[in-house]
Amino acid sequence: MSEKFAPGAPAAAGGIPLSVPEISGREWAYVKECLDTGWVSSVGPFVDRFERELAAIVGAPDAVATASGTAALHVALLVAGVQANDEVLMPALTFIAPANAVRYIGAWPVFIGAEPRYLQMDPERVREFLQDAGEWRGGALWNRRTGRRIAAIMVVDVLGHPSDVDAIRAAVAPFDLPIVEDATESLGARYKGANAGRLGDIGCFSFNGNKLVTTGGGGMIVTDRIDWARRARYLTTQAKDDPVEFVHGEVGFNYRLTNVQAAIGCAQLERLPEFIQQKRSHAAAYAAALGAVPGLTLMNEADWAFSAFWLYTIRVDEARCGVSSRDVMAHLGRTGIQARPLWQPLHRSPAHVASESYGCDETDLIVREALSLPSSVGLTPASRARVIDAVVEAVAAAP
Ligand SMILES: *Cc1c(COP(=O)(O)O)cnc(C)c1O
Repeated sequence: MSEKFAPGAPAAAGGIPLSVPEISGREWAYVKECLDTGWVSSVGPFVDRFERELAAIVGAPDAVATASGTAALHVALLVAGVQANDEVLMPALTFIAPANAVRYIGAWPVFIGAEPRYLQMDPERVREFLQDAGEWRGGALWNRRTGRRIAAIMVVDVLGHPSDVDAIRAAVAPFDLPIVEDATESLGARYKGANAGRLGDIGCFSFNGNKLVTTGGGGMIVTDRIDWARRARYLTTQAKDDPVEFVHGEVGFNYRLTNVQAAIGCAQLERLPEFIQQKRSHAAAYAAALGAVPGLTLMNEADWAFSAFWLYTIRVDEARCGVSSRDVMAHLGRTGIQARPLWQPLHRSPAHVASESYGCDETDLIVREALSLPSSVGLTPASRARVIDAVVEAVAAAP
């Protein structure tokens, strides 16, 4: 429980955490089945079932389970053809994992700023960047400023809302770039009727503890391309050519999910519709109660989107509210409620100082103002009301 809380945040009983797993279905029964049968490691019936069921839910021909979402991203980028010293366009506003996955290959992220309405990578900035820096030469797209090949674009559906992938596709269409989708936060979301995870050429999910569906830790890759799925499976299983003679065709990875983890995942997936409904009802309740507070900006849902509302995030305009997002966070913390800012934007990250960025001014403002509110699936209406009261109080107490 304690690692769910940021340092200094309320771990005491009666506190309201930001986002904790909902383990109240068949998880125990399925894990017991693993232990009773001895199927505890990286092959087993629950791994197959988890892959099959997730593929069916998102409408993919196949799915490849991985040890984490980060591992899924690493392999998806490799499968999409990203190589050392290539560049990958991606949002500046996201958790760091997808940027790290690019660096694992020895490739370089280029961070593109977010648009303020839905907080996703701004397709207009992508278009401008390619106009400024892109050069089509010898059948490939090059970054004129760095001399590197731009090999892919990664969209990350942050906070549960899908990216405007048609606009992104239009921006990169002249250059034939593969689109890798990090749908880790958007499981259950839809874009113009299409399921998140299926919006690009290859999609990735994470089942870490704070995601909509958890396996403790884990991930998944989905793609239409059968050859890509086969290659992903090969790379995640040590690139094994001959299981008897231990022949390995290249340097692969031990990135498989275990049967025990998949067992938890199968139990979680059974409740996915209910989980999404809960997230959406939290969003509706927050929106209804906080909409009238001047200076707060609520989460939007585009008319082309069905959001999973993974983590409900408001913006606090300090000039209008008289308090900053961090003041509101501190007030909530004092009353036992855990709230959190968004991620340090990646163009500011010490881990990625060597990478280029484009159009990130708006992103800096968003991050300064943003505050994520408790959004656990199991958050009760009474707890929600406590959060709402505390936010209203924090703003009312402004000097
Ligand atoms: C959580 C997260 C990941 C990383 O997933 P892990 O399973 O923790 O490796 C990747 N991308 C995004 C957008 C995430 O939120």
